[in-house]
Amino acid sequence: MNPASVYRPRWRSLALLALLLAPLLWPLQFFAERYYRGELLEQNRQTFDLYVANLFGTLRRYEVLPNILADLPPLRSLLAAPTDKALQERANRLLTQVREETGADVIYLMSPAGITLTSSNWDQADSFVGRDFTYRPYFREALAGKPGRFFGLGTTSRKRGYFFSSPVRDGERVIGILVVKVDLDDSEALWGNTPEQLMVTDSNGVVIISSRSDWRFRATRELDNAERAAIAANQPYPTQAPTPLQLDDSAWLIQSRELQETGLTASILAPRQLVDRQVRTTLAVGGAALLAGLLMLGLLLQRRRHYIERIALDARAKRELEMRVLERTRDLETLNNRLKDEVLEREHAQQELLRTQDELVQAGKLTALGTMSASISHELNQPLAAIRSYADNAGVLLDHQRTDDVRGNLKQISELTGRMASIIAHLRAFARRDRHAPESVALQPALDDALALLAKRRRTLDVELIRDLPDATLWVQAGETRLRQVLGNLLANALDALSEKAPPRRLWLSAELTGNGVNLLLRDNGPGFSEQALAHAREPFFTTKTSTQGLGLGLAICETLMQALGGELLLANHPDGGALVTLQLRSAAPGANLQPPEEFS
Ligand code: ADP
Repeated sequence: MNPASVYRPRWRSLALLALLLAPLLWPLQFFAERYYRGELLEQNRQTFDLYVANLFGTLRRYEVLPNILADLPPLRSLLAAPTDKALQERANRLLTQVREETGADVIYLMSPAGITLTSSNWDQADSFVGRDFTYRPYFREALAGKPGRFFGLGTTSRKRGYFFSSPVRDGERVIGILVVKVDLDDSEALWGNTPEQLMVTDSNGVVIISSRSDWRFRATRELDNAERAAIAANQPYPTQAPTPLQLDDSAWLIQSRELQETGLTASILAPRQLVDRQVRTTLAVGGAALLAGLLMLGLLLQRRRHYIERIALDARAKRELEMRVLERTRDLETLNNRLKDEVLEREHAQQELLRTQDELVQAGKLTALGTMSASISHELNQPLAAIRSYADNAGVLLDHQRTDDVRGNLKQISELTGRMASIIAHLRAFARRDRHAPESVALQPALDDALALLAKRRRTLDVELIRDLPDATLWVQAGETRLRQVLGNLLANALDALSEKAPPRRLWLSAELTGNGVNLLLRDNGPGFSEQALAHAREPFFTTKTSTQGLGLGLAICETLMQALGGELLLANHPDGGALVTLQLRSAAPGANLQPPEEFS
């Protein structure tokens, strides 16, 4: 499977999820805005409180001052004699002193006609002394017996001031008006260079104090006709018709407070930008967090899918493995069954082989009998001829009454029949099937028997027999007949080989004791085994002899018999020439009878 085709839709669905989750940022914006606006308002409120307290305190401090000053005797004396220069000068100095002590801008005293009699700025260029302020509302209010308040620009100083006035009474009569002017320019200077703006409006809604100079003396609301007329009459502002000031609510966060009894309203304006900036930052952080969360989620999902895929792969691999194991088991079972069948077949073949071998041995024996028949008939004919001549002779001797000689002849006949019986017994033993388990057999007598069977042939060939066998009987594990058969075959082979060469012909017979057995060595000085014969002589029907002479069964039978006896047949050539055949036989416990059971005693 192409991985890209698997992963792409996942990321697409994640993007879709991001789009779906994006509206979550709206509440975040809402709450962030509310939070930061609250923060900003709270922060500004504290600054604003301080400012308002300061402004209010300043105004309150001077509010009571005119009333107190109205009782000062020098001022009252001047009011009694307004033209007295000495009194006027005294009053001037007094007011200058009070002004210095209280920090007021100007303090002055007017006659009920509105003419300034004495003033703290009497000695300055813009001295109020002799000036007429009847147009100012605070004069009118004080003349009416009430304390007066007024905001306005100084007519000569053009500085913003707040005027407090109080009537000077003599009983019920107002004899003069005392005015204290407070400088408001300073309170504006208190405000630093901050993004938040300060604004104080008077009862007309006109800005009188502001940290922004372009807002000053502008009307924050619509002015009615009476107000416009009052402004024209009282000239509190540098302009007769204040231009309107439209403050954009979406740009500013405004907090306002009225200053009691002064008719002033103080406001603090914080630019909404400050909040917006914080909200934008919060949104950016929130969005980034959301994105990171989604990315994490995506990665987690991807990892989970990889994990699931791996598990599926593992499971598939396991299943395949199990299938393969099952297949293998089935194969093995089939193989096993075949092997069982083969084992059965082999067993059959083995049995067949054993049977064939048995038959071979038998055939070998018959063949040997065939080849030996000439010598056997010779061996039997000789005593027979002798018996006949002894018998014929005995008849002649009886005619002559020579009974002793007849007895001698009969004795000879008896001995000859004994010898014949022995030969026949050998043949019987040779031809008989022998299935006995190995038993203790004396080696030397068996060898003698085998030699006896071949005696005539050996004599004909003039073979010198060199025997090197211990006198003590060597007991070996064998079967009487089988051992004789083997020895007979080997000796016959040696004679066959010797017949192929010119005299002298020799046959060595020797024995050596090994760890657990006896080695019988048969050596001749014939031509020895050919290379091929050494390799194949034990195979049935291998022969180098002409077909009439040899069947190639001799050594095959010997090998089989030796194996059955637990011994071994070794074929080799002697270094001095000729064949060297070794019969390895196992030792056996001495047996009971030295004479083989088959033999006639
Ligand atoms: P056969 O005697 O019928 O040929 P054997 O199995 O007895 O069968 O012998 C096989 C062959 O081994 C013989 O044909 C001969 O070539 C060789 N052979 C056996 N004994 C001797 C020996 N003593 N010297 C040389 N060759 C031998």
